[in-house]
Amino acid sequence: DVSCRYVRGIGAVLGGAVLISFVDVTDMEQAGQMRRDFVANVSHELRTPLTALMGFIETLRGPARNDEKARDRFLEIMEAEASRMNRLVGDLLSLNRVESEERVRPREQLDLRALLESTSASLRPLAQSAGVELTLDAPAEQVIVNGDADQLRQVFTNLLENALKYGASGGRVEIIVSTAERDPALRGPGARVQVRDHGAGIDPVHLPRLTERFYRADNHRSRELGGTGLGLAIVKHIVNRHRGRLRVESELGQGAAFTVILPVEQN
Ligand code: ADP
Repeated sequence: DVSCRYVRGIGAVLGGAVLISFVDVTDMEQAGQMRRDFVANVSHELRTPLTALMGFIETLRGPARNDEKARDRFLEIMEAEASRMNRLVGDLLSLNRVESEERVRPREQLDLRALLESTSASLRPLAQSAGVELTLDAPAEQVIVNGDADQLRQVFTNLLENALKYGASGGRVEIIVSTAERDPALRGPGARVQVRDHGAGIDPVHLPRLTERFYRADNHRSRELGGTGLGLAIVKHIVNRHRGRLRVESELGQGAAFTVILPVEQN
């Protein structure tokens, strides 16, 4: 919390009456600082792969010009760096979209089970290549939420991709859907979707900052695995837009559980 607030006074004399209006600029200053930090972060994130690309281009032009083996290896790395930049730009655009959208977007009635079945089906190949068994446990009856299908699909895709990326060593990733007439987090009817892995987990010191843009619990591993550091920021935004809540529980060595709690349609 901010202990000191900046207040700028604007005074004017209008026909003998003194008009003073105070504008609280604390939020504006903070917003300005956040924007500057964000631009600095984005520039840094883009510059890293760009520098690598430029280095490889130079090497290919010079010392590696006639070395076919080196050329193939370098091109492979260059492709990986280019696709990292592509992912970053894609995530930035997604984040921008969800941030700038108003809540008035038309909402559809969505069956969570169907949505999760299709999302997990599209991630099956990834799960298979990571050697992970992906399971879905949902109530037999439909669980209807009011929401944006594309955005909610993105939420569960991001959480599942993380579980498969960081939690693959656990061998199993579970999606568990449950409902409550009165969810304590919402004080109303809610549906919970938990994505749980049994991998390396996250040191609890990181948990409060995990949804910040570009925050990574394990910087080296995230970059190695092609992470952009924006996935959970996008998740958090979309969940907020749906008047939902996001919970994270984890301990080192104990895997991680991310829970999305969404309001459920009342009949
Ligand atoms: P990234 O693109 O780096 O994966 P995210 O915003 O999706 O960015 O996640 C932020 C960080 O949270 C990751 O860098 C990783 O350190 C940590 N993290 C997210 N999900 C998991 C998980 N299931 N297990 C362990 N660490 C995780």
